[in-house]
Amino acid sequence: MHAGSCHCGAVRFEAEVDLTTLAVCNCSMCGRTGAIMVFVPRAQLHPLAGEDKLTDYQFGKKSLHHVFCSVCGVRPYAWGAGHDGAEWAMVNVRCLDGVDTNTLTIGKQYDGKNL
Ligand SMILES: [Zn+2]
Repeated sequence: MHAGSCHCGAVRFEAEVDLTTLAVCNCSMCGRTGAIMVFVPRAQLHPLAGEDKLTDYQFGKKSLHHVFCSVCGVRPYAWGAGHDGAEWAMVNVRCLDGVDTNTLTIGKQYDGKNL
């Protein structure tokens, strides 16, 4: 279990994530925001505070909710339904407390630009 937050601290959460299964993506959103993501079933994301501060942003097929903090603009996680209908969350590893992203290995590069 890892704790995380946006930059200003309004949005806080905990998530059960495996830091050995990280991904980056080249889609129009991730390419711009530079998130390092880990995918988990939505039930493994536990919002603790600030859900009312999140602004939802959707684009394309609008199947994903790319939320960001309305105060500081940081994008701590996203969620949406997968092809099988199950709800998934994408946790931005850059928002986790105590994780040095310089030491992490990015195992997967999603070709989101061409999905
Ligand atoms: Zn914030």
